[in-house]
Amino acid sequence: MKDLYDVIVVGGGAAGLTAGIYTSRAKLKTLIVNEGVLGGQMSLTNEIANFPGTGDVKGYELSNSMKNQARSFGCTIRSNVKVKSYDIEADIKTINLEDGRSFSGKSVIFAVGGQPRKLNIPGEETFKGTGISYCATCDGDFFTDKEVVVVGGGNSALEEAVSLTKYASKVTVVHQFDHFQAFESAVEEAKSNPKIHFIMETEPRAFVGGENLIHVQLEHLPSGKVYDYPSQGAFVFIGYIPNTASLPKSLNLNKNNEIIVDNAMRTNIPGVFAAGDCIEKRYRQITTAVSDGTIAGLSSIEFINENKHKFEYEKEIVA
Ligand SMILES: Cc1cc2nc3c(=O)[nH]c(=O)nc-3n(C[C@H](O)[C@H](O)[C@H](O)COP(=O)(O)OP(=O)(O)OC[C@H]3O[C@@H](n4cnc5c(N)ncnc54)[C@H](O)[C@@H]3O)c2cc1C
Repeated sequence: MKDLYDVIVVGGGAAGLTAGIYTSRAKLKTLIVNEGVLGGQMSLTNEIANFPGTGDVKGYELSNSMKNQARSFGCTIRSNVKVKSYDIEADIKTINLEDGRSFSGKSVIFAVGGQPRKLNIPGEETFKGTGISYCATCDGDFFTDKEVVVVGGGNSALEEAVSLTKYASKVTVVHQFDHFQAFESAVEEAKSNPKIHFIMETEPRAFVGGENLIHVQLEHLPSGKVYDYPSQGAFVFIGYIPNTASLPKSLNLNKNNEIIVDNAMRTNIPGVFAAGDCIEKRYRQITTAVSDGTIAGLSSIEFINENKHKFEYEKEIVA
């Protein structure tokens, strides 16, 4: 079988590239197929300051370095491709691309990532990455001594608001309801922090500025009153969307559409693993994606070793 791989990795972000580094270094024939920009969210991040050992590094540089490392071990990478359908139930799994090509693999790793939910209001795209962020851990430091707003009322929003007070001079939480959805402990902690202010029953309508963000246009929902609120930065925590909508329906997902895995990154389907931002987990960072990718890669190697005889048999049938 010409296009039989040991491992097919779907998704070429930090998690997928790491999995590819491990499996190809173990001399397994590995294919990474990636739909968008190789490197995923990492590539689209301007400055990464918290990846250990690199110092400040441009996202695309870190991504290139992971890509080159994977290729140096013989990993095949196909980017800008779209998967049309999957057959992941059989021992030999198949993925079919939209361009008509098909590839088979003894194991599959889903590392399809995800994206923060956007507000989709004017100015959001313009200031994304400069004045607007979806990650306080990543970008909080850039707002030292500045006034910022946090949009959202769940655990992430309130916890990130508290963490932002280490940097920002004032943090205003803007929430659409008159109560929070976060745990009481998170609400208490935020309320007891003197740097945090609250604007309830209010939604952002636009981000406005010139070169930099200057204010957020807010609407007070009960009265319909729209006004400008000065802010040099905005952090949006209104949920996260994993890229799992097009994955096979047989894969177990939780209610947030995140892939359920065990601590070896095994999914409910034998030989199918998942890693990175698309799985059910608490913290989404490059380091955690890299860790998941490592585990998924190693588990995949173990799975193939343990099932060697089954695959030898399949090869005879196909031949
Ligand atoms: C604005 C921003 C800034 C951030 N800054 C930092 C930071 O400074 N430090 C830090 O540690 N973390 C940061 N993060 C978080 C970090 O980037 C992510 O947690 C990490 O990159 C996730 O990696 P991943 O491989 O799991 O997923 P992704 O990076 O999302 O990669 C998934 C890849 O899979 C592809 N894909 C999706 N669906 C399919 C499909 N069906 N078929 C094939 N390919 C598919 C996507 O195109 C993408 O290339 C930031 C995130 C954002 C949004």
